[in-house]
Amino acid sequence: MSDLEAVSLKLEARGYRVTPPRRAVIAAVLQQDAHFTADDLLHRCRGAGRATVFRTIRLLTELGVVCRVLLEDGSLHYRVSERGRHHHHLVCTGCGKVQDLDECSVTDLVRELSRSSGYEIDGHWLEFYGHCAGCRTEATVGAPA
Ligand SMILES: [Zn+2]
Ligand SMILES: [Zn+2]
Ligand SMILES: [Zn+2]
Repeated sequence: MSDLEAVSLKLEARGYRVTPPRRAVIAAVLQQDAHFTADDLLHRCRGAGRATVFRTIRLLTELGVVCRVLLEDGSLHYRVSERGRHHHHLVCTGCGKVQDLDECSVTDLVRELSRSSGYEIDGHWLEFYGHCAGCRTEATVGAPA
């Protein structure tokens, strides 16, 4: 079974109809090997309208097929996720590489914050920005002695 079929079945299992435009959006998403924006998808799926693209991305995010990444410049990107559940990212501001982190490391902080503030905390967003090992090596090699 292809990824496209697997994702379509997941959506249908939740009661969503996988129309041809929606299918085209899913196929375009699965073809992305780096992070992408909703506009990137709009350009790739001429047959799908803006509303369909946004709605489909939202469904894929809810299903955990896609995760959202906030880049350092404030732009919202998406990427095909290997995780399928809540997680954070390492973002290289040198080459733009994004890495999914294994698990959420702030659950204790959230629990403590909830207790001290009286808030029922439903979510949080945390990304780490820096330079990956490859970019650091390059910077060292390129630096004057
Ligand atoms: Zn890098
Ligand atoms: Zn991710
Ligand atoms: Zn978290």
